Amino acid sequence: MLQYLNMTLKIKNTLTKKKEIFKPLEKNKIRFYQCGPTLYWNQHIGNLRSVALADFINRSLRYLGYKVTFVRNYTDVGHLSGDNDGDADTGEDRMEKAIKREELSPQEIAEKYKKAYEEDIKKLNTLFPEHTPKATEYIPEQIEMIEALLTKGFAYTTPLAVYFDTSKAKNYHRLSGQDMQNNLCGAGTGEITDKNKKNPSDFVLWFFKAGAHKNASQTWTTTAFASPLVEYGEGLPGWHLECSAMGKALLGDTLDLKMGGIEHIPIHHTNEIAQSENANDAPYVNYWLHNEHLLVDNKKMSKSEGTSYLLSDIEKKGYSPPDLRYFFLQAHYRSKQNFTWESLQASHNALKKLRQKITSLPDGGSISITYKQKFIEKIEDDFSTPEALALVWQLLKDNSISDKDKKATILDFDQVLGLKLNTPEKNDNTNMTNEIKKLLEERQQARQNKDWEKSDQLRQKINNLGYDIIDNNNEQQLIKKEKK
Ligand code: AMP
Ligand code: ZN
Repeated sequence: MLQYLNMTLKIKNTLTKKKEIFKPLEKNKIRFYQCGPTLYWNQHIGNLRSVALADFINRSLRYLGYKVTFVRNYTDVGHLSGDNDGDADTGEDRMEKAIKREELSPQEIAEKYKKAYEEDIKKLNTLFPEHTPKATEYIPEQIEMIEALLTKGFAYTTPLAVYFDTSKAKNYHRLSGQDMQNNLCGAGTGEITDKNKKNPSDFVLWFFKAGAHKNASQTWTTTAFASPLVEYGEGLPGWHLECSAMGKALLGDTLDLKMGGIEHIPIHHTNEIAQSENANDAPYVNYWLHNEHLLVDNKKMSKSEGTSYLLSDIEKKGYSPPDLRYFFLQAHYRSKQNFTWESLQASHNALKKLRQKITSLPDGGSISITYKQKFIEKIEDDFSTPEALALVWQLLKDNSISDKDKKATILDFDQVLGLKLNTPEKNDNTNMTNEIKKLLEERQQARQNKDWEKSDQLRQKINNLGYDIIDNNNEQQLIKKEKK
């Protein structure tokens, strides 16, 4: 049951480029799908930002009283590097790359990275989706969709692949607003371009075990699925197809919300719309949400520059996953966010202060309806988490609300924020060794005795062990130094 009658959730829809009043397909229910990770490598904090952003939205919808079915898929076959980089169907196969690198089977690779990812997203306190389908578990459904497209004349075969014919799709580029004549995306100029492709933007539905894919590790024989239509033989699905097929199988022909990174707009999601709408004869997605990327030091994250940080890098420096979650809450999902160690430190300080404050307040209060209404207005405005978070601080300063009511209200908001604000702050610097702990205690003592010389000597010893210290009033904050 919806808790508030005058609710007007507004969502910026990439398709119309407008903020629209949200109307679900079915009263009070939401079908929500987020494109998930490829299980070939550890997920960096940019990937994790996209998970946290979807979680803020998922939690907001539930807070507003909707019954949400949330799906996030796992890609474990068929995703080529060109699919994200602007040239669909080209480049290296990500799973194949991992198989070679680690000498494990495709299933072992997928399981390994799925486990690591699920541990990370649990630490970030994200709600686990209702469904987490893997592409390899939905091969028959993908083939069924290819069959429908072939039957209706939207697909054709070459010796290398089955393609979707983008010239047959009505308004193919409507999500990105690109000009069809220029074929700006997916222009097929990469190494495995098929000369029998009819239009540069046509994309693969099924790769045959041939050409660049003749040594593919994961293939299926389509006859195993009793395909009566064409002898299109052994192969593997193209990446875009999996989301269309799994979305249909788990949520139906039309979804309420679909979310993904902005890089998906011109290729992946454009292709999903074309294949789903023409196979199903139904609208595919009513509201498209695209999140902007995380930058590090104002640049694209990069493995070669050592800025593709993992959650474990954050933890090694003594920060907690909730510190990172707090950091993510400070930027709107449609804005870029810049990560620096200083900004993470600021989030850490703010979260610590917030938790100390909340746990010190008395229990037994009731929720302030005025503030709850304000909070709802913020999240109903295209899920504005930075403003929702600012409201928490505003409430703490408001003398007209009693301490116990402040606590009850903020803990109610925490259903959306997911910061576990009722958790007493553990002693900081959790990762340090006993040796450093002892040195810190000695230094604390020296500082209390105003023995600055000794305090400096101890700082030097701690520096030599790879840590900097920030003196914060009476507290010493330990920061692991960057390895040069
Ligand atoms: P991938 O495994 O590369 O397909 O990426 C998995 C998810 O992470 C996708 O939804 C991307 O949109 C998202 N993603 C990748 N890099 C970033 C970034 N720097 N900031 C935010 N999201 C990202
Ligand atoms: Zn997808």
